[in-house]
Amino acid sequence: MGSFRALLTASYGRHYLAQQIKPDGSHGSPFIQVDAPGKQHIGAVGDILALESTSIDQARIIDIEPRKNLLYRSDAFKSKSIAANVDQILMVLATAPSFSPDLLGRAVVAAELDQIELRIILNKCDLEEGLDHARTLLAPYQKMGYPIHEVSAKFNPESIQNLQPFLRGKVSVLVGQSGMGKSTLLNAWIPNAAAITQEYSAKLDSGKHTTTACRYFDLPEWGRGSSKLGGMIDSPGFQEFGLAHLSESQLQHAFREFQPLLGKCRFHNCRHDNEPDCAIQAAVQHGEISSERLALFKQLLSDSKTADVQIQGITPAKERWSTSPKPPYKR
Ligand code: GDP
Ligand code: ZN
Repeated sequence: MGSFRALLTASYGRHYLAQQIKPDGSHGSPFIQVDAPGKQHIGAVGDILALESTSIDQARIIDIEPRKNLLYRSDAFKSKSIAANVDQILMVLATAPSFSPDLLGRAVVAAELDQIELRIILNKCDLEEGLDHARTLLAPYQKMGYPIHEVSAKFNPESIQNLQPFLRGKVSVLVGQSGMGKSTLLNAWIPNAAAITQEYSAKLDSGKHTTTACRYFDLPEWGRGSSKLGGMIDSPGFQEFGLAHLSESQLQHAFREFQPLLGKCRFHNCRHDNEPDCAIQAAVQHGEISSERLALFKQLLSDSKTADVQIQGITPAKERWSTSPKPPYKR
């Protein structure tokens, strides 16, 4: 029997649902249940699969097409793939409860490493008390050129509609701490999202795993770009990106505002810590780079060293990247 192409549209652990891709590039129901028995075919939502039918609504993975990118969730020292072939990250923040600048910083680094666009959506702008504080936290990111959209998913439908042109024809992944309004946004853009979520969870694994499954939603007709319909990937359990095992050079390049200054420190291997004549530390002193960003850089550098040491202690080198067809975090 021949193989056919399908989009991986939902995952819970190694249980996947996929939908066949038609000759015109679109995909549609019915759902096909896919299991990944071996380690060589670990998929992520957004993957394009080559499948071979094993029964009327079941199939096995023959191959996974090369990915444009792959986002990870960090889970102590284990990383789990979350979403593949993503065009942009929508970082959902709110005026209340206050958001974690650290998580925002990490999302930005993940986006830069994979060269994925990132949009910041500041939700609940109807709650004015928290607005100034949120704007202050976001100021460095605005200065670096990341687009920021102030919206109210609940009380200002127009502010949500205004974002539609940025979603059209693209695959976006929603990221944010719980309570920021991700579900409210998803439902505002995709009116049948709740029904689809139910269908996914019923088919995925007897309906128990709605809170941690990862899911792909087609945008409504307004989301059709020049060639394809855009989509949105949501994973309620996806809070933090896997950013361990990065090299110093990869990290430096993920900090957009460091770029013009790289190579301008006195020492070529400067770690921008306590070294004299450091261009980055000088920029922090002059208020051109925020001290929080330099602190995040140092934190990530130290995390990635710890992770390397730990993983070398517990995992045979050969197995280290066995869940992925290519080493993560490298382009
Ligand atoms: P999630 O955990 O990120 O999916 O967040 P939810 O969408 O469940 O929203 C969390 C809470 O914030 C809910 O009580 C929503 O009704 C509320 N909420 C969502 N959007 C807004 C908004 O624009 N303004 C206000 N005031 N509340 C909102
Ligand atoms: Zn330096």
